Amino acid sequence: MLIVMKPSAAPKEVEAVVNLIQQIGLRPHAMPGATRTAIGITGNQGPVESRRFENLPGVAEVIRVTKPYKLITLDLRPEKTVVRVGNATIGGSELAIIAGPCAIESREQAFAVAEAVQESGARFFRGGVWKPRTSPYAFQGLGKEGWSIMTAIRDAFGLRIVTEALEEPHIDLIEQYGDVIQIGARNMQNFSLLRRAGRSRLPVLLKRGMAATLEEWLLAAEYIMAEGNYNVILCERGVRTFTQHTRNTLDLASVPAIRRISHLPVIVDPSHGTGSAYMVTPLARAGVAVGADGLMVEVHNRPELALSDGAQALTPPEYAQLVREVCAIREATAPMVEQNRTETKVA
Ligand code: PEP
Ligand code: MN
Repeated sequence: MLIVMKPSAAPKEVEAVVNLIQQIGLRPHAMPGATRTAIGITGNQGPVESRRFENLPGVAEVIRVTKPYKLITLDLRPEKTVVRVGNATIGGSELAIIAGPCAIESREQAFAVAEAVQESGARFFRGGVWKPRTSPYAFQGLGKEGWSIMTAIRDAFGLRIVTEALEEPHIDLIEQYGDVIQIGARNMQNFSLLRRAGRSRLPVLLKRGMAATLEEWLLAAEYIMAEGNYNVILCERGVRTFTQHTRNTLDLASVPAIRRISHLPVIVDPSHGTGSAYMVTPLARAGVAVGADGLMVEVHNRPELALSDGAQALTPPEYAQLVREVCAIREATAPMVEQNRTETKVA
């Protein structure tokens, strides 16, 4: 159930509704918006008796939620969520670019790539410290040593750092000195990890599972939000299909499809979405044109020597060119994307 407060509702009236929800043993999620506050309710197994809220001061409407989602929806928050990370944003007017190597391999490699990322004007540096590899014999990431390289990059370049947590203790570490927790495709339905990320104060970048429907992906975001963390960024990274010309099939239609349902920002990862460096820039352009709030791109100073995902890594000059192109596309398409978003909103 969703309680929409009147635009004129006083903070005290919002508080009274929140308190009542708590008193009946449920969890309130108050979302202040541009014109009104809405309060989502979770924790109920069956329907909640709506009558008890209808006549409370400041309440405009009590809406029974028939969709599987409660907190990711535009019903709860009609405006887009803008995730703030320091002085950078994801979901706002700037195109968020998260770039860096697949894995942190050495200080020299990571610093060389970070320099290119900073020069491009991007605000976020990505790098896997713990790597979820298909083979147990493949490079698994540098672990804590990699984490100290990441934190050194944060200090040296002022970039916001994004790294994947494979297990709950990784989140403890990222929380001490990190900026964004990435949950990878392989863990999109690791529910205890999602819940733990939901209890974090850091934003969570949630990648789409490799065989996940839109509904499953959005419900994974609900797991995080239901714990009280509303700063979730969705990342389309392609799904497994029958194609052989790409590593995954990058489902760009998910971007407008999500826009119709959810207020959450969505970014596109053309690196894992294609698996080949020569396809990364064309699909990055397309991702921005379709309305993504940002991109995640893998970059390596020596792709031929990379310990993971070398085939899809751009070199620093290729990456710099990509950024120039996507920024131009963003500028040209942003008004159309915005118009499309407001026109196609489901009533
Ligand atoms: C990654 O970002 O390096 C990664 C492992 O991605 P995914 O979870 O999308 O496979
Ligand atoms: Mn990778």
